[in-house]
Amino acid sequence: MRVDYGHKCYNYYGAYLKKKYEGKRVFKIVVDGGFTCPNRDGSKGYGGCSYCNVDAFTPETSRKMPTIREQIEKGIERAVNGYAAEKFIIYFQPNTNTYAPAHYLKAMYDEALSVCPEDVIGLSVGTRPDCIDAEKVALLESYAARGLDVDLEMGMESIYNETLLRINRGCTHEELEKALNLVKDSPLDICLHTVFGFPWETKEMMLRYAGEINKHPQVKFVKLHQLYIVEGSIMGVQYKRSPFKLFSIEEYADFLADFIPLLRPDIVIQRIFGISDYELLIAPDWKLKKAGIQTYLDKALESRGVSQGLNYVHSV
Ligand code: SF4
Repeated sequence: MRVDYGHKCYNYYGAYLKKKYEGKRVFKIVVDGGFTCPNRDGSKGYGGCSYCNVDAFTPETSRKMPTIREQIEKGIERAVNGYAAEKFIIYFQPNTNTYAPAHYLKAMYDEALSVCPEDVIGLSVGTRPDCIDAEKVALLESYAARGLDVDLEMGMESIYNETLLRINRGCTHEELEKALNLVKDSPLDICLHTVFGFPWETKEMMLRYAGEINKHPQVKFVKLHQLYIVEGSIMGVQYKRSPFKLFSIEEYADFLADFIPLLRPDIVIQRIFGISDYELLIAPDWKLKKAGIQTYLDKALESRGVSQGLNYVHSV
């Protein structure tokens, strides 16, 4: 049965937070911990995932702020002044935020959580499945034991190893399954991040992502993204040399209308699309700002009578 998280035809994160924190305005404060990725620094490859330029999804302010404390203080100030935010989730977002020894991670997370502790309700850590181990899981669980909501966000991207190879991911789908097994009975909130629209994947192939997500009951959140091409990425160079097909907003809405009903009804969707800095975006240009895209997709899903979980098939 679908969980009642607000009026959209899918469980959306804003309503989940509102319900959980009794109407308080909760904001994520993005922090750049200065990490890299194993497919950037040479341990598994160079150049990173072929669609990625971390600057495309890192707020400019956290790129320029030298210390963790300053980034958080400024981020909180902006969220309070601009959006009347009341509670905060510290979000280590750019690059691989568990790609360091556990004692180093502890020092960094501790420092972040020491800023404004009375109003920080959560820690969110974006990472890759191959940079998670039992020691790091135990470290993150220690923050959950203190009463914080700890969201471990792992990039799944595609369920196909051929795609993961082609995008220089440096990580297989089996490594994701191994990481998910490590957090099987964990108090951590697990979020999977996907990318739809690699030009060699068909719609049928992409719809199969749902079954892979659904079969792991520990997955609480998902972030659904369409492929977009940005400056500073390997795909950016490839696309400029030889452009390939990307989702139009209408096609993406059609795809989501088929995908969301397949998704387990208890999963909360943190995002249904991705967005980049406009100056870095090469394609597709949907000619709408973030709120406009959200409204367009929500209306399109609503008008098609979409309901999350309607076509969910439980498999063991
Ligand atoms: S997508 Fe994630 S793992 Fe891949 S290069 Fe970018 S930050 Fe690193």
